[in-house]
Amino acid sequence: MRHCNSVFSASDIWFLLDDDRRINKKLYLANCPICGKKMALYSYCDLNKTNYFEQYFYSGGVDRIKEKLKKDVVSTMLGFKDKYKMPFGFKYGLNKEVKRNGKIIGTKQYACDFYGNKILVKKTEDG
Ligand SMILES: [Zn+2]
Repeated sequence: MRHCNSVFSASDIWFLLDDDRRINKKLYLANCPICGKKMALYSYCDLNKTNYFEQYFYSGGVDRIKEKLKKDVVSTMLGFKDKYKMPFGFKYGLNKEVKRNGKIIGTKQYACDFYGNKILVKKTEDG
């Protein structure tokens, strides 16, 4: 990664699921060692592997691209499980209704993997 005329390696890398237009998707994350700026580098190939794309994000843009891509994370350099407290190989989300006296009062959102692990990521209550 590059900033402040210096080249440095990422502190973490997210390996992402392919989609119907992009493969080899990765998100590199780092803070610039010179100025401390939070950065992300999103890289991917097109389906024919003929073109390679790189896009940099900074500061608030880093949080937005992480939020957008986190559902596609297959694994990370540092280990998704330890760092983000998610089941390893987090694959899909699951919503469950919360009922009280037969009435739906909210939803529980889980992150699940294919090994039967799940964790609660969000809980909403309608009252
Ligand atoms: Zn910098």
